[in-house]
Amino acid sequence: MGKLVIVDHPLVKHKITFLRSKHTDVQVFRQLMQELSMLLAYEATRNIPVENITCETPLMEAEAHHISTGTLGVIPILRAGLGMVDGLLSFMPMARVGHIGLYRDHVTLKPVEYYCKLPQNLADMEVFVLDPMLATGGTVAKAIELIKKAGAKKIRFLCVVTCPEGVEFLQKAHPDVDIYTCVMDKCLNDKGYILPGLGDAGDRLYGTK
Ligand code: URA
Repeated sequence: MGKLVIVDHPLVKHKITFLRSKHTDVQVFRQLMQELSMLLAYEATRNIPVENITCETPLMEAEAHHISTGTLGVIPILRAGLGMVDGLLSFMPMARVGHIGLYRDHVTLKPVEYYCKLPQNLADMEVFVLDPMLATGGTVAKAIELIKKAGAKKIRFLCVVTCPEGVEFLQKAHPDVDIYTCVMDKCLNDKGYILPGLGDAGDRLYGTK
């Protein structure tokens, strides 16, 4: 079973409060989403491999480390996942970025792919899949299935808010994927929204409601 890591940190708790608030405007919401994504990614990158190298300080040669080019992949699930990308890229600018878009079919209620453009060599990458809300888990599980089909083997999923239903679904569907979240909320409502949650993350990021 994959790990569930709740990034239980005072800064995260503080920022989540403002992210949830219905009085937070689009600009601040976006900024907070980016900052929380950075804090999540700090935890989620803790065990990525580094290469041993040497570097010349002004005084002498030092043992040093670096992350090899082409080893990090960031894949937001459209559209809300886009709000997390800059947070990760601000401290891992060398990462390759893929995009995956899924919509829910009104009849079957199943997620259907409408866009998928992924980096090459996914098999050699540490892949970070992004979606701020892990709710029912159906869309995220499907996205990860497609990313695995494209070759990815080492996948971590990063979200800002989740709930027990979403975690259980995703852990069953992809037991090899570790989940990183800022907070575990109570439950889902009958429309699939997380309670207390923060509303529709996409609408709040892009001001579409
Ligand atoms: N997606 C959202 O944006 N919010 C939820 O609460 C659930 C899914």
